[in-house]
Amino acid sequence: MGHHHHGHTRRDFFRHCFGGVLAGATVFEEAFLRAGWARAQAQTASASLFTIEKVAEGVFAALAAPQALTNSNAAIFVLDRDVLVVDAHSKPSAAAALLAQIKREVTDKPVRYLVNSHFHWDHTQGDVAYKTANTKVEIIASDATKQLMRQLQRDRLKESLESVPGLIDAVRSRLSGAKTAQEREWCNDQLRQLAAYQEEMKSYPLELPTVSFARTHVIKDPSGELQLAFNGKAHTAGDIQVFSPSKKAVATGDAIIGFLPNLNDGFPRPWPKTIDSVGSWKFDHIITGHGAVQHGRARMGQFRNYIEDLTARVERAKKAGTPLVELQKTITPASLATLQTGGFGAFVADNLEKYSVYLGQRTPLEDRLTANISAIYNNLDRV
Ligand SMILES: [Zn+2]
Ligand SMILES: [Zn+2]
Repeated sequence: MGHHHHGHTRRDFFRHCFGGVLAGATVFEEAFLRAGWARAQAQTASASLFTIEKVAEGVFAALAAPQALTNSNAAIFVLDRDVLVVDAHSKPSAAAALLAQIKREVTDKPVRYLVNSHFHWDHTQGDVAYKTANTKVEIIASDATKQLMRQLQRDRLKESLESVPGLIDAVRSRLSGAKTAQEREWCNDQLRQLAAYQEEMKSYPLELPTVSFARTHVIKDPSGELQLAFNGKAHTAGDIQVFSPSKKAVATGDAIIGFLPNLNDGFPRPWPKTIDSVGSWKFDHIITGHGAVQHGRARMGQFRNYIEDLTARVERAKKAGTPLVELQKTITPASLATLQTGGFGAFVADNLEKYSVYLGQRTPLEDRLTANISAIYNNLDRV
């Protein structure tokens, strides 16, 4: 997600394309940068970026606290002799902070496998921290994700940095209208986070996956195997999920999240079928890319149905020649049956409240629905 962000900044974020400004750091510079991250890590470690929650025996979710620049959740699978982690957040210092927290709260076994569920910056920009911690780490992704990272990672990093001044303006304007000391402190903390991100990421050598696969990849282990699979296009062209049959747990990246989906790089028509394919695995616990752990499969079904429902509605209107702006006015949260059924809209609003930062004018749910409508409108024919 450059992605799970707020209204216009997010759209600007995806519009821009930049050259490879960051190419060509020397080995010496990289060593210097790594030392810089170690310092940043010491500073960030005190702020608690994650809450680690036990999901099943040997399976943990690191739930990302709301940050000015979103961090993804991570899933942690403790194996016989080492550890597999799914997703690496928006910056190396966040990944390093999680590594230290895993050591304190979960296990001191080394992280041997890091999975990138998809190419987005909030899931991959911390990769280098895992390599710094363990030079033997395997960074695993789908072939498509590796390709997308090679193609787009630099641009998306640059876009995330380009979004910061707009975010700073939005926080400053909120600060000027702040009514309580607590709100002022919150704003100042956001400003500190934004400045720290700019500082940490202004130069930074990108990592690519070291292992990639087309469809499936199995990690055998005495504690029970892990199945990694590309189940079809969804949030991106390369999403993979990680399934532990013995623990009945799955990590889904952003193919299933506790927010509304992000469709900017997405595939509206194939996505529900991909979730059906994920759902053929026998799991009870879902660690998603953003938002709370889901126990049971009800929310997954509602999320799937929302995408199908909204896609059908946008498709009909587009065929009838309805302009996008008109559609964004007529499709409201109250008018979408799949948001109203089973309390799904309230569940999403609660997740957004607890796990995201919102600086816009309406509610985050309305803002994301509007973004979904335009993304579906534009990406309808992607297959
Ligand atoms: Zn994400
Ligand atoms: Zn994403």
